[in-house]
Amino acid sequence: MRLILLGPPGAGKGTQALRLVAKYGIVQLSTGDMLRAAVKAGTPVGLKAQEIMARGGLCPDSLVVDIVAQRIDQSDARKGFILDGFPRTVPQAEALDRILAERGLSLDAVIELRVDEDALIRRIESRVAEMKARGEALRDDDSPEVLHKRLAAYRQQTAPLIAYYGRQGVLRTVDGMAAIPGVAEAIDRALPAEPAAPRVLLPGGKKKKPREKPLKSRPGKARKAVVLGIKSKGRSSPARSKRLPKHTAKTGGRRAIARRAR
Ligand code: AMP
Repeated sequence: MRLILLGPPGAGKGTQALRLVAKYGIVQLSTGDMLRAAVKAGTPVGLKAQEIMARGGLCPDSLVVDIVAQRIDQSDARKGFILDGFPRTVPQAEALDRILAERGLSLDAVIELRVDEDALIRRIESRVAEMKARGEALRDDDSPEVLHKRLAAYRQQTAPLIAYYGRQGVLRTVDGMAAIPGVAEAIDRALPAEPAAPRVLLPGGKKKKPREKPLKSRPGKARKAVVLGIKSKGRSSPARSKRLPKHTAKTGGRRAIARRAR
């Protein structure tokens, strides 16, 4: 099962992802978690991301796309994954399409957790207050100002993905304001019974038929084109072989044939 959980910060993506991970035996790929780990470890990616994350902005597309591509190739993601917090922009979604196509994979569903923004702000503010009361450590981006910026970033850059995946026919929208078990049930109902089977790739990892080059410019390739199931037009038609005798050592080429005919 390969899924995307789409929704603004605080919509409950992490909670639902944990449940789906246990249910399907797949891995949760949260770009936020990966970036926070990189910041903590002080890696070059972490150093680039730290300041952007602290002010509630989005990290550069190329940076997150590379992290996700590498993560998808790890063996624990072979059975499936839930992308949480990725993609967040249309270019990221396009890059993900390419990453999956190159590997012969496709998405089973994109679950949008639809929430009311005002209610969301109240929900997050009370969660932050509870964490403070318990003396728990808050994240750098857990302040009301940063939350507003993150919501604005979602509205401007991530919400267009709803239309993007709607056009692909994989979008399933669920009411994210319901209680956690209700959201879980709605997600289960929205998911396909069977995950999509991986596509069979042609040699070289291509899924599309290669474009046919004119056979004239690649002598000796006709047999290979037939093996790949591509019909070579014209060359082997009986009418054409009557008109144009073959160039062989025996016939001596077109000019020699013409001389002999005279
Ligand atoms: P999250 O835990 O998903 O809310 O992510 C926390 C922060 O990490 C975000 O506010 C961004 O700064 C950064 N981030 C996470 N995922 C992405 C992404 N797909 N594209 C750009 N920035 C991201």
